[in-house]
Amino acid sequence: MKYVIVIGDGMADYPLEELNGETPLQRAKTPNMDYIASHGVSGMLRNVPADLKPGSDVANLSVLGYNPEKFYTGRGPLEAPSVGAELESGDVAFRCNFITEANGLLEDFNADHISTEEASKLINTLNEVMDLSNGKYPEPEKHHKPGKFYVGTSYRNLFVYRDEKSAALESAPPHDVVGEPISENLLKPSEDENAQILNKLMLQSRKVLENHPVNKGRAETDKKPANMVWLWGQGVKPSMPQFSEEYGLKGAAITGVDLIKGIGIYMGLTVVNVPGATGYYDTDYDAKAKYALEALKNHDLVFIHVEAPDEAGHAGDITEKIRAIENIDKKILGTLLKNLPEFGNYAVAVLPDHPTPVHVKTHTRDPVPYSMFSTNADPDGIEKYDEISAKNGSQGVMEGHKFMKSFMDYANST
Ligand SMILES: [Zn+2]
Repeated sequence: MKYVIVIGDGMADYPLEELNGETPLQRAKTPNMDYIASHGVSGMLRNVPADLKPGSDVANLSVLGYNPEKFYTGRGPLEAPSVGAELESGDVAFRCNFITEANGLLEDFNADHISTEEASKLINTLNEVMDLSNGKYPEPEKHHKPGKFYVGTSYRNLFVYRDEKSAALESAPPHDVVGEPISENLLKPSEDENAQILNKLMLQSRKVLENHPVNKGRAETDKKPANMVWLWGQGVKPSMPQFSEEYGLKGAAITGVDLIKGIGIYMGLTVVNVPGATGYYDTDYDAKAKYALEALKNHDLVFIHVEAPDEAGHAGDITEKIRAIENIDKKILGTLLKNLPEFGNYAVAVLPDHPTPVHVKTHTRDPVPYSMFSTNADPDGIEKYDEISAKNGSQGVMEGHKFMKSFMDYANST
């Protein structure tokens, strides 16, 4: 039995007036998702426990069968292994976004989707100028603690800070505070020593980045500057059992984003690097399908993650969201369903991790629809894959971290 899970990050949504009351999933042409629904079973997953923030970190842990209440320590540490940051005890990894600040407001949480090449130049400068370990920065004062920036992908970078107490600070996801004053959304409590050091670092990064050649170049091409870093989502290294021990399957992960790569690395999945997987609209969907089929030759399970619909949700772009969903359907699921019979028995599931509704422009904690199909099992009569149809599926509503086991049980039921 081969297993494939396809995640359309953030693709669930609400009924939209612009679509005459349909959701983007309902409007999009998705014959392959509908095939999975009509030949399989459907239900709803609650991927985000009530006490955790809705995000791809928590939600993908759930889908992969790890209870986030037990294993989640923060987003930063999950991204650390794929950007080459080895966390030691006492280290705290912060997600470090490049953002655009304008007039004291957080204007753009992704600095106009800055390229990785540009970001890496900025990161190098930050490490040179803002070295916390030698006391050069922030301005001379008594307490200096080692900190280091790491290059990730595009606006998503990492900062590792050596004081375990900083893990407990309250931080604001930048995509949730777009348009709000920077000063109100810095690390809290503001009287905490680490908060003061790190808030100063964020505010002073403005001066380092403002006149950087990279930003001068961006100004010439009318792109927003990456003129500030934003530290958030921090935590210590998590400890997770290996996926193969938990589920008895050899798994591989295909994704363009460091977060999912890092989750894969902690779980002991093979992280397959796909050329052209960008974590954005322009990702190479065909390549992801091709590499997934290749990985299935020596793995039992492949987890394919596509970030594009989430980015469209954050941008509030209905057209791009529908296009991303249709691309996943045609170029990934279409290719998979055509070629999977070569492997004998197989099971495929399709779902988002969390919704990123275009009118909310960020993640919500609503349960997400899923459909799964197995060559071995019977269908439940649901015809289509979308938020409304899945509610009537035979699987009901389930805690997200129970999905993996239920998928395996379903796949092997006869
Ligand atoms: Zn998102």
